[in-house]
Amino acid sequence: MEGNFNDYFVYKNGKLYCEDVSIQNLSTKIGTPFYIYSKKAILDMINQYKDAFKDYPTLICYALKANSNLSLLRIFEENGLGADIVSGGELYKAKKAGFPSNKIVYAGVGKTDAEIMYAINENILSFNVESVMELDVINEIAGKQHKKANVSIRINPDVDPKTHPYISTGLKKSKFGIDIDEGLDVYKKAVKMENLKVVGIHCHIGSQIMDVSVYKEAVEKIVNLVFQLKKEGIELEFIDIGGGLGVKYYPQDIPPTPYDLANTILPIVKQTGLKLIIEPGRSLIAQAGALITKVIFIKDKKEKHFVIVDSGMNDLIRPSIYNAYHHIITVEEKTEKMIADIVGPICETGDFFGLDREIGKVNRGDLIAILSAGAYGSSMASNYNVRPKAMEVLVDGDKYKIIKEREDYQYISKLEEEVV
Ligand code: PLP
Repeated sequence: MEGNFNDYFVYKNGKLYCEDVSIQNLSTKIGTPFYIYSKKAILDMINQYKDAFKDYPTLICYALKANSNLSLLRIFEENGLGADIVSGGELYKAKKAGFPSNKIVYAGVGKTDAEIMYAINENILSFNVESVMELDVINEIAGKQHKKANVSIRINPDVDPKTHPYISTGLKKSKFGIDIDEGLDVYKKAVKMENLKVVGIHCHIGSQIMDVSVYKEAVEKIVNLVFQLKKEGIELEFIDIGGGLGVKYYPQDIPPTPYDLANTILPIVKQTGLKLIIEPGRSLIAQAGALITKVIFIKDKKEKHFVIVDSGMNDLIRPSIYNAYHHIITVEEKTEKMIADIVGPICETGDFFGLDREIGKVNRGDLIAILSAGAYGSSMASNYNVRPKAMEVLVDGDKYKIIKEREDYQYISKLEEEVV
């Protein structure tokens, strides 16, 4: 038998539990597929971040894109975190979950006028601005609203985060941010704009970063620019270094911890005396979640065995779009093993959770758990093939709460039915 993957999804007497809730028993009650989250896992990560940064004025803004379920957002809000948002929808959810506006930062290369208006009205802590045109538009809209908008410039430090190209965001060729060599000029323009208050500097170099030395490189470049700005008389309030800390996906992964991040960046940030903002998403929630799905059919072909389950790429798209690895285990521990492709029912060859995987030998009706699925799982889900999105459940000790109802066909079709 292999050891437990983490402390939150553990086998007890051969059955998988999330904290003290039997996943098998829960499935019998609520059906499948569903996302299940451990509250303890979330709190443990929050506390690690808080502890790692406790000696320096730091605002930890949870990146909603990782998972924006309102009940989970409340946990982050109740524990004093801020919010990192990238859309009007995320602003709406952040406010609904209770995040105060002065703890909300807003990034994104394509903010619409309506979204900008909404965020100015909410008096958010900072727009993380990604282009000169965006600065102009925010300035204009703020003027019309007779307000001053707080802005930071997202600087692209041209650092390779050594991760998947689709989640590398700080390279010169990427669509994000403003090139570092143009930074000074853009700040000079920004401080002259009447309806803007320039409050900070922002960067985010990528996601699933396993080697924290890349943060050192990025933060050194950003701090360098902060000093250049000071020389020009441009004083900022904070440095925001984004998110990106990697998590365990493979059993052998040893991801960096918030302490590793703090030890790497704080000595550099301290030189400026500016407050720090960080925007972790994945690392706060990935380990807390698993996607539970039931085996519908086993299909044995000459070349391969297929385990066909009742969840698909509409619920968890990471394997399909990034070829991402998620560790997959059976809910009932099995001694006999099989090698199979674990696939969903969707009409796409890319609809898989794992290829050529060794897992416990399963049969029709058995349950499997797809681990490290708390981040970029439910938040990237869709209704492709008119499939209702999975239910979501939060576990706290031996209690559980449904935090998102299962969708049904009427719900999915409602907005279309209203117009026919
Ligand atoms: N901040 C920004 C601007 C981002 O684009 C992202 C993710 O893409 C994050 C924070 C969160 O990153 P992660 O989930 O890797 O911590």
